[in-house]
Amino acid sequence: MQELIVALDVDTADAARALAAKLAGTVGGFKVGSRLFTSEGPDFVRALVGEGHRVFLDLKYHDIPNTVAGAVGAAARLGVWMLNVHASGGRAMMRAAVKAADEAAAAAGGARPLVIAVTVLTSLDRPALEEVGVSIPVDDQVEHLAALAEQAGLDGVVASARETAMLRANRRDGFLIVTPGIRGPASPGASADDQARTMGAVAALAAGASYLVVGRPIIEASDPRGAAERIAEEVAGAR
Ligand code: C5P
Repeated sequence: MQELIVALDVDTADAARALAAKLAGTVGGFKVGSRLFTSEGPDFVRALVGEGHRVFLDLKYHDIPNTVAGAVGAAARLGVWMLNVHASGGRAMMRAAVKAADEAAAAAGGARPLVIAVTVLTSLDRPALEEVGVSIPVDDQVEHLAALAEQAGLDGVVASARETAMLRANRRDGFLIVTPGIRGPASPGASADDQARTMGAVAALAAGASYLVVGRPIIEASDPRGAAERIAEEVAGAR
């Protein structure tokens, strides 16, 4: 299932490689986040790309434009398929990210990685946003930052399933919405874990998600490949 991205939220390259080997051919790509990247670094990402996998490098860059541009250029040279920045880094930072991705891809003669933005972390609620000086409702801030990301030329955003329908209604065709927090009938026994706003795979795609990011319901299953296949079957059955 091409829309299914599996979060390799493990500590070692060996554990991540074993999961990738079990899941190869059943999923659309793998997400490498700050946990695995901090332990295993760019060599692991290069190896995963070298094995032909689509890699979403989820490092959520947020810095001054020049520094983010340098990091995005380096990520593009690793050959990742998708990467992300924080929309709250601002328009100039997001534009610098897209420009750096374009330039690195042109220099390498390859495809530019998709550059998407995190709007508001799903761990933040309204009181937490107020503490950092944002006093509008969470949904309004999500919509505001998604619009800014679209204007800055980004390819899409990461959003909780709860926000997906609202965002889809207001964005251009083809704007990507990448949705974590997927829990549902295809993952019996999987708890919501620390995800407060969950949705099943079928409902999230129906709401307008372009890609689903799934971690624990697959990587902690006794049979990860079977768990991924059940999600794909659930989606296929609803189409
Ligand atoms: O295990 P689970 O399916 O909850 O994993 C979801 C993945 O998506 C994790 O890697 C998590 O860091 C990531 N993520 C998220 N919420 C966001 C952005 C990323 O859960 N807003």
